[in-house]
Amino acid sequence: MNLHEHQGKAILAQYGVAVPQGIVAESPEQAVEAAKTLQTKTGTKMWVVKAQVHAGGRGKGGGVKLAKSLDDVEKIADQIIGMHLVTPQTPPEGKLVRKVLIQEDMYSPGSSEILEYYMSVLLNRKTGRNMIMYSPRGGMNIEAVAEETPDQIFTEEIDPTVGIQGFQARKIAFNFGLSGTAFKNMVKFAVALYKAYEGSDASLFEINPVVKTSDNRIFAVDAKVVIDNNSLYRHRDILAMRDLNEEDPIEVEASRYDLNYVKLDGNVGCMVNGAGLAMATMDMIKMSGGEPANFLDVGGAANAKRVEEAFRIILKDPNVKAILVNIFGGIVRCDRVAQGIVDAYQNIGDIDIPIIVRLQGTNAEEGKQLIDESGLKVHSAIALEDASKLVNEIL
Ligand code: GDP
Ligand code: MN
Repeated sequence: MNLHEHQGKAILAQYGVAVPQGIVAESPEQAVEAAKTLQTKTGTKMWVVKAQVHAGGRGKGGGVKLAKSLDDVEKIADQIIGMHLVTPQTPPEGKLVRKVLIQEDMYSPGSSEILEYYMSVLLNRKTGRNMIMYSPRGGMNIEAVAEETPDQIFTEEIDPTVGIQGFQARKIAFNFGLSGTAFKNMVKFAVALYKAYEGSDASLFEINPVVKTSDNRIFAVDAKVVIDNNSLYRHRDILAMRDLNEEDPIEVEASRYDLNYVKLDGNVGCMVNGAGLAMATMDMIKMSGGEPANFLDVGGAANAKRVEEAFRIILKDPNVKAILVNIFGGIVRCDRVAQGIVDAYQNIGDIDIPIIVRLQGTNAEEGKQLIDESGLKVHSAIALEDASKLVNEIL
């Protein structure tokens, strides 16, 4: 699950990671109030106004701006709230900005002593360990740094049995070229950041930039935080941060029924049990010249209710010209699934696109017979090649 910057920073702060003070606003009036409150709290005379959307690269797209007066705050908030922010990480039409984060300016007095670093925590799939990836060349496009100066990207692998060690945090601070107070603060920052990552069951923290101020404090000025969905059951407070506005409406509905659905651009809807079989089915559709309209795993327990919901979700996509159901009956019996399909077809009514059902495994013959005898416009097959031929004939 992706979080907004202000939500990610709230988690960081809980674990003692230094973040600038900020307040979320939904209108220019609230933005001005927030700016005044921050001024009282921190003495800041300038603020940054930051669009809160699930996408990076906001600065370049005009979604992060410095305000030098309260009038500025109002004007900029008015510009940004309601805009469709376009960045390299948004769809071409952009993302509607509903909220802004008003934050104390960390860069004033704008001296050259301010330094920007890059730091992220993520899983290294090759070693099966979390790692801290960091670079003294932060603030800018980290992909470009990786390409042009790969020697400027460092990694520190964390042993899961002992967690981050002091010497590792010191190595990070050393590689950033720090000394004295800034060195000590960076050590604290790295340790707290790693603990926050572990404690919140995150799958990605990306802090770009981490800033060293002219008075040697270290802050997370930006925060991209992704939480592992499988851990949300034990993080109710984080789950409550979910923003459905940022997600695809069909995918949101699918998740309500525990269906793993990802929308794609093709025209053959797929309903499959098991992620591996779903991937293989998409390959098969592509190899026979079609394009899958979605990935959909109805899960191991493909019961009648879930089959029906899956049909409804696939049918919401106007591009779908045919549906291929590919179910392997292992624990679940094919005749039960077939009955579920027949019931769903009748319950939904007016389905005017062809449905091809391929059942294999326990009671496959009985399942096929049930469909063939139902009198519905549902085509059945047992072999996958037959199913794929049927799809091609129909399209
Ligand atoms: P992103 O573009 O979505 O990655 O958003 P960031 O939070 O990284 O902000 C983009 C850029 O705005 C940063 O790289 C900074 O250069 C600048 N910026 C962020 N916070 C401040 C601030 O407090 N003061 C000033 N003057 N600039 C800031
Ligand atoms: Mn950033």
